[in-house]
Amino acid sequence: MKSFACGDVVPGCAASWVSTTDDEILVLVAQHAATAHGITTVTDELVASITDRIVTVS
Ligand SMILES: [Zn+2]
Repeated sequence: MKSFACGDVVPGCAASWVSTTDDEILVLVAQHAATAHGITTVTDELVASITDRIVTVS
């Protein structure tokens, strides 16, 4: 399983996700970024910073 915590990119945000693939997490994070942070454009740099921080959990 893969895990990502929004607080690793956006200090103070408590949202986190666990999913089976990086792609699924990216979809969920993109939705969260738009609704919670007003980030409607997910740039390559943002995707890179998210994928850098996705960790594998068992
Ligand atoms: Zn967040």
